Amino acid sequence: MPRRLVILGSTGSIGVQALDVVSRSDEGELEVVGLSAASGWETLVEQARVHGVRRVALADPDAAAQAAEAWTDGEVLSGPDGLVTLITEAGCDLVLNGIVGSAGLVPTVAALAEGIDLALANKESLVVGGELVTQLSEATGAAIIPVDSEHSALHQLLGAERPGTVLKLILTASGGPFRGRKAHELESVTVEQALAHPTWSMGGKITIDSATLMNKGLELIEAHHLFGTAYDDIDVVVHPQSIVHSLIQLCDGATLAHLGYPDMRVPISYGLHYPERADVPVRALDLAELGALTFEPVDTDTFACLRLARDAGRAGGTAPCTLNAANEIAVHAFLNGRVRFLQIAEVIEETLTRLPEQPVHSFDSLARADAQARRLATELVDALAPA
Ligand code: NAD
Ligand code: MG
Repeated sequence: MPRRLVILGSTGSIGVQALDVVSRSDEGELEVVGLSAASGWETLVEQARVHGVRRVALADPDAAAQAAEAWTDGEVLSGPDGLVTLITEAGCDLVLNGIVGSAGLVPTVAALAEGIDLALANKESLVVGGELVTQLSEATGAAIIPVDSEHSALHQLLGAERPGTVLKLILTASGGPFRGRKAHELESVTVEQALAHPTWSMGGKITIDSATLMNKGLELIEAHHLFGTAYDDIDVVVHPQSIVHSLIQLCDGATLAHLGYPDMRVPISYGLHYPERADVPVRALDLAELGALTFEPVDTDTFACLRLARDAGRAGGTAPCTLNAANEIAVHAFLNGRVRFLQIAEVIEETLTRLPEQPVHSFDSLARADAQARRLATELVDALAPA
C-alpha cells in the first residue's frame, strides 16, 4: 500500500520540492491525496492535475471560488476549516506541513489530534505551540518528523543514541548574507540584499529570518521542543558553507555530524519516507574538492534576534508566541519597505517588553497572545512608518 500524503503549502519552496521527491519515488510508494495553498489557485490546480489529486484547499475564499469554477475534476475546500477537513477526511498516513508562519499551527494540531504522523517544515507551529504540540503528539502517538535540515540531521544523529549519553546539540547557521558585518553596516541594507542568501534558496520570510538570524532563534526553540533538550545544552555555531547540517556531542568525547550539500530534498525525502530511505539525486559529497569547512562564533550583539529568541524560549509561556508574531509582522513590514532591517529586532524587542510572558493553558490562550502581539507590533511599525 502506498503511503498517503497530504502536502500543505504545496505551492511554496518546500511544497514544490516535496512534490519533486514524490515524483521521483518508486511506483506505489507515495501517493498524494491532498494539496493546499494560501491563494495561488492556478498553480495548485495544475499540481493537482499532474499528481492526480482530487481534493485541494485554499485559505483564501475568493481564490477557492475561482479554483472551484475552473477545476471540475475535484473538490475545492476553503478557509481554515477547509484545511482541517482536508487533513481529517483524507484518510492519509502523513501530513507534510510546508505552510509559512503561525498559520501552520492549526493544521499541525489537526493532524496530531487525529493521530496522523507529521513531517514538519513549519517550525513556527512548534515555536508557538511548544509543549502543547509535543504533548498532543505523545498523547495520540502521532510522530513529528522534522523537515528543517538541522533538525532532520539531529533526528538522524540522535536516533541511535541511548538516553543520557548526549551532552549537547549543536545547530549550524550559515550566517546569512550579512555574516561578519557590524550593526552600523546594516543600517541601510536593502530588501534585495537581505534576500540574497549565500547557500539556500527558500521562501521570502525564512530568507529574511536567515539574514537577521531569527531563523536560528526559531530553530533553537524548535530543537528544544523536538528533542526535549535544555536551552543551555543547545549551541549555535556559524558555518558559512552549509555542509555540516548539525552535530551532537556525546559523553565519551565523540562528536557526530551530519554532512551533505545544501538541498532541502534530502530532509524532505527523509521526512516522507521515514524510517525507510530513498534515492535523492544529489551529488555525492566531495570533501577534497571542498577543501575546507570553516566555523566561527555567532555575533549576537549584531544579530539581536537570536538573543531575543533564546531569552523568549527560556522565559517560556506566551513569550515564544509573542516573539514569533512580532517577527512575522516586522519581516512583512521590512519586505514592504516600511521598516529598516535593524528595526525588525527593535519591533520584536519592544513587543516582548510590553507584553511580558503569561502561562499557556490552551491553544486558545496562544491564539489570543498571537493576536495581541500582532496588534502591538503593527502599531509599532505604523509609528515607525506612518502611512
Ligand atoms: P514559501 O513562502 O515558499 O511557501 C509557503 C506556502 O504556504 C505556500 O504554498 C503558501 O501558499 C502557503 N501559505 C502561506 N500562508 C498561508 C496561510 N495563511 N494559510 C495556508 N497556507 C499558507 O515558504 P517556504 O520557504 O516553503 O517555507 C515553508 C515553511 O518551511 C516555513 O515554516 C519555513 O520556515 C520552513 N522551512 C523552509 C525551508 C526552505 O528551504 N524553504 C527550509 C527549512 C524550513
Ligand atoms: Mg533550517
